[in-house]
Amino acid sequence: MVDTEVRSRSALRRAGVLTAAALAAGGLVAAGPAAALPSAAPPGASVNAGRPAPPSPATSTGTGGAVSSVDAEASRIGLEVLRKGGNAADAAVATAAALGVTEPYSAGIGGGGYFVYFDAASGEVTTIDGRETAPAAMESDAFIDPATGAPYPFFDAVYSGLSVGVPGTLATWESALDEFGTESLKEMLKPSILLATRGFEVDETFRAQTEANQARFEQFPATAELFLPGGELPVVGSTFRNPDLAKTLREIALRGTDAFYEGAIADEIADLVQDPITTDDATLPAYPGAMTADDLADYATLLQDPTHVEYRGLDVYGMAPSSSGGTTVGESLNILENFEPSADDPGQALHLYLESTAHAFADRNAYVGDPAFVDVPTETLLSQEFADARACEIDPDAASVKPVAPGALDATGCAAAAAAMPEGAEGPSTTHLSVVDRWGNAVAYTLTIEQTGGSGMTVPGRGFLLNNELTDFSFVPNPDDPNIVEPGKRPRSSMSPTIVLDDGEVRYVVGSPGGSTIITTVVQILLNRIDLGMTMPEAVAAPRATQRNTAAVLAEADFISEYADDLAPYGHVINPTGEIGAAAAIEVDADGLMTAAAEPERRGGGTGLVLEPAD
Ligand code: GLU
Repeated sequence: MVDTEVRSRSALRRAGVLTAAALAAGGLVAAGPAAALPSAAPPGASVNAGRPAPPSPATSTGTGGAVSSVDAEASRIGLEVLRKGGNAADAAVATAAALGVTEPYSAGIGGGGYFVYFDAASGEVTTIDGRETAPAAMESDAFIDPATGAPYPFFDAVYSGLSVGVPGTLATWESALDEFGTESLKEMLKPSILLATRGFEVDETFRAQTEANQARFEQFPATAELFLPGGELPVVGSTFRNPDLAKTLREIALRGTDAFYEGAIADEIADLVQDPITTDDATLPAYPGAMTADDLADYATLLQDPTHVEYRGLDVYGMAPSSSGGTTVGESLNILENFEPSADDPGQALHLYLESTAHAFADRNAYVGDPAFVDVPTETLLSQEFADARACEIDPDAASVKPVAPGALDATGCAAAAAAMPEGAEGPSTTHLSVVDRWGNAVAYTLTIEQTGGSGMTVPGRGFLLNNELTDFSFVPNPDDPNIVEPGKRPRSSMSPTIVLDDGEVRYVVGSPGGSTIITTVVQILLNRIDLGMTMPEAVAAPRATQRNTAAVLAEADFISEYADDLAPYGHVINPTGEIGAAAAIEVDADGLMTAAAEPERRGGGTGLVLEPAD
């Protein structure tokens, strides 16, 4: 059984975490409001003053601490926290806050996520479930159009108040610092207040993401004002400032998370969700949601045990439900444990990889939802016996017909259960960061606002987008589906922040965005590294394919050109797709040498930094 403890914000207050006295005692407000905090600057994008950007390598090797993320500014901010003596949890919060500034379409205080922490001193791995929740008044048929009885079109639901879950990100940062950190939230927000104030350089990725959202953003006036200043796309090379976000973060830094979950900001979020503000000529239906200020005040993170499997003698820890990441990565690895994939036969290795994730996805779709509402067989899904029964359905020489049926939970031999449960739609956005500190503590943290651009709705004057996480629920209220909408429920996630230990010491920290492809990306990186002999940077950069129990494998163009011939004898249907994921990983070798490995190319390339680079 997975142990779960609710970290309500009132419990933290009782523990003194949120009181003004505690803030002052920690030196947070003693100097007076805003005294030590950066102040506002003009909004929007302007021509860059030409400040040369410091180097932002995708991979670095060395000692003293490491940070890996998709963004150079965010990785540098995390590294600076480590340099000044902060631990991995501190640096992860500071890095995440920075991603909320520079990756506002993927992360930020309007969303949620999952935080996995390894404490080197105790040897324990703990997780924080900071997933968004459905409002208390949301009903199971919320995504069904009463006029037709059919589900709303997916993207009409995305860009609406209906899709917005109660945000968990800020509460996650608070819980992480309270449980594992050494620094205050105020200190960890400071670099991001500065970053939002001074601005960051617009790159191709930011412009392209804005462009892809332009038609929707134009229909929400507050979003257009912030992200399409003067009605135009931000220009590559210009500086993008977000003084509204700086002001919001400053308020939170001074007053704690109450500034967000109670009072004016909470009221404004609830008002916007209930009554989305669109332009007069908007074509989006922008359905209203049911969120109230009470839903925000009641939000609580969950502190819970990680998932755990052993793979090739290593201990693999991940996120238990409400994410399906830990159970599905774990089951895939347990299935692969039955075989010996090797670089000598890449076709066979990749065939086994594709079959392992297809079978694990059949079980994910049938059995995993929010365990507060559904009886999730987490222990069985993670057991080697169950995986062995699944593995015996895999033909080492031929692809199975998809979709495969889920496994019977009491099976000991080769046996499938009922028909496959279809998978709901999940957006390909999100961001992941990995941190290891000088003491060997580690964080894998994946955070999101769901689609790139979330719900498309910016809280007016507050500088951040609201998520559309509730579209991760299944829209059709089929009682056999563990992932239907229920009031207060967390939608099933695929986020898979993963920490791998070797004999009690951190060895790999891995995660990625990519909707449900997150799971296959994490499995493929671990397979590449552990079984196929790639280095971690090679494992991250290698071309990807994803099989999620669908008729066809989807694969990047490079995967097809490199491996289609090897895979041909096995009979998989392989269709091309664009980039899969944008991973950020760290490896620590047995001598303590750290390799921070971000993407060299995907999503414009990430940044992996170490504190003391090796020569
Ligand atoms: N909403 C997705 C999930 O929770 C994440 C979105 C993404 O990675 O693109 O799994």
